[in-house]
Amino acid sequence: MTANLLDYDLEGLAAFCASLGEKRFRATQLFRWIHQKGARDFGQMTDLAKSLREKLEGSARIEGLPVITQHESADGTIKWLFDVGNGDAVESVFIPEDDRGTLCISSQAGCAVGCRFCSTGHQGFSRNLTAGEILAQLWFAEHFLRAHLKTGGERVISNVVMMGMGEPLQNYSALVPALRVMLDDHGYGLSRRRVTVSTSGVVPMIDRLGEDCPVALAVSLHAPNDELRDKLVPLNKKYPLSELLDACQRYLRHAPRDFITFEYCMLDGVNDQPEHAQQLARLVQSHGGQGISCKFNLIPFNPFPASGLVRSPQQRVQAFAKTLNDAGIVTTVRKTRGDDIDAACGQLAGDVQDRTRVDRRIAQQRTVMLKQVPVEADTKEARGT
Ligand code: SAH
Ligand code: SF4
Repeated sequence: MTANLLDYDLEGLAAFCASLGEKRFRATQLFRWIHQKGARDFGQMTDLAKSLREKLEGSARIEGLPVITQHESADGTIKWLFDVGNGDAVESVFIPEDDRGTLCISSQAGCAVGCRFCSTGHQGFSRNLTAGEILAQLWFAEHFLRAHLKTGGERVISNVVMMGMGEPLQNYSALVPALRVMLDDHGYGLSRRRVTVSTSGVVPMIDRLGEDCPVALAVSLHAPNDELRDKLVPLNKKYPLSELLDACQRYLRHAPRDFITFEYCMLDGVNDQPEHAQQLARLVQSHGGQGISCKFNLIPFNPFPASGLVRSPQQRVQAFAKTLNDAGIVTTVRKTRGDDIDAACGQLAGDVQDRTRVDRRIAQQRTVMLKQVPVEADTKEARGT
């Protein structure tokens, strides 16, 4: 089997070239051909010696992911479904805005964390993506968009968010080389502040990321206390809020930004009450004595039938945001984009084979939860809205 060069960061590619008896500058040339120019075959690499190209033909390949579908929304959002083999698929979404182009990419086929409100979590875990499969999403999207938008070779994607399918910090060994390629000036040259890892709170890996490859960090909070968070994000039982917030504080010493972004998915009658907002403000402002420098991003819940949950009404989301803003915490409400093509957070369903029977487990959690959530959500559930 030949080596897929998309799997390597520049160091890895230099080691691969050394194994072929080639100097480091050759690795840099090759790396630039692949990531900056989107080359797919060695024949295109005209400034490499013919002998090297022949060596590469025999030992290496540049293999992206087959595209199963591509959907373009009326607002310019584009969603791709990629085949990762064995019946599994993952999704990526491009979100154009006036001043930036953001690509949301996946790190795993499925996810083992099993959050109550997440459609990926409901599918169970299939497997980790390789570094090459994580990067293939960016490699394909960047070069497709350059051609599609006719930019004359100008970069299109300015921001990458690891907010697609999967928990990136449970796929750490593939995540880090992929991030390095995104940041490398010979690769995509993205600023550390514009590459965001989003995590449900894998505490030890937050520390390692701070050491190995600090980028912007988003933490999916979703609840102001352990009792509720245990039910929404099962990983909280292993790494409760106090430990998670300690890790956030430590991360800030390394982070390229001086704040952590907390994501909070607004679930009607579950975590969106005025007392939740007050408790949340107290939690982050008092933690460790000095509080945590943070911003909040409130995400309107994207409903899917199996969740049994409902999106919070807009007024309640605004009231929640006002409580946090009034307490001095910068809070924004995420715009939903690509709604017509199901491209919003948590709808990146892909098509992962459920090998863990996670749906049954989540259904059990749900039964427990519904006994305890406020009456409002219970009633909606009963009405089936
Ligand atoms: N596993 C990581 C990153 C992928 S999920 C994490 O959990 O952070 C990216 C974001 O989408 C997370 O904040 C997640 O909580 C949110 N999300 C998941 N399902 C959602 C849904 N149905 N509606 C709105 N946001 C959702
Ligand atoms: Fe996994 Fe994130 Fe979905 Fe939770 S929200 S199940 S961690 S992808």
